[in-house]
Amino acid sequence: MRLTVYSVPVAIYYTLGLEARDALRVYGDTLRILIIEDEKAIVRFLTRGLNAHGHQVLSAENGEDGVRLAVEDGVELVLLDITLPNLDGHEALKRIRLRRPDLPVLMLTARDDLKHKVSALYGGADDYLTKPFVFEELLARIRALTRRSNQVHSALIESGGLRIDLLERRAWRGKEQIELSSREFALLEYFMRHSGQVLSRQQILSAIWDYDFDPGSNIVDVYVRYVRNKIDTPGEPSYISTVRGAGYRFEPPRK
Ligand code: CA
Repeated sequence: MRLTVYSVPVAIYYTLGLEARDALRVYGDTLRILIIEDEKAIVRFLTRGLNAHGHQVLSAENGEDGVRLAVEDGVELVLLDITLPNLDGHEALKRIRLRRPDLPVLMLTARDDLKHKVSALYGGADDYLTKPFVFEELLARIRALTRRSNQVHSALIESGGLRIDLLERRAWRGKEQIELSSREFALLEYFMRHSGQVLSRQQILSAIWDYDFDPGSNIVDVYVRYVRNKIDTPGEPSYISTVRGAGYRFEPPRK
């Protein structure tokens, strides 16, 4: 078993004054990413890696479906392959640009070929990456493309009286500091970033432990129990509810 290196976000944009439910939205860090790529193994690999970094991923296997998804609301970045069935990457890019001129698009090309790169950039791609690439390289490009000038360097996430500081790795309930191990902290952070969402044990395992951790293990349940014991108030509903057959959901208890 390898130990996880859990990625610590460096820039989080925390906005006050939104509806309580939305106040947890974290900007500039987790994205809704569309992958337009017909090679299933690549889609799987990318999806897994991006999910583990907190990104939401949707995918399309051909250019037409890709364009349709890209112009729908909510997609914040596109990874676009060049050789695709029924509408190639260049054509897909043109159509995406007509509808979403500012959407960051990163072209993936298997061809280490100047002509394709130049035409991708002329065609309105923001950057390109030649396959095969190292995943860290992709993350770096994504960060560069989505870096926003108005980013506030704050590192607090707050929800329902719970507050965590991602840089200092400390947590509080109200004014009371909560002592958490680094693994417990990572788990709580993951839950708070995905407040209101049901997270499966497998998702939690991938994000906090390791891809190849024994899926039969009950480590997630054990750590959820640890975290609950530390963050919940005895006699009051838990921040983390068990969703039968599906996983867990973090939500501030209603008073
Ligand atoms: Ca392809």
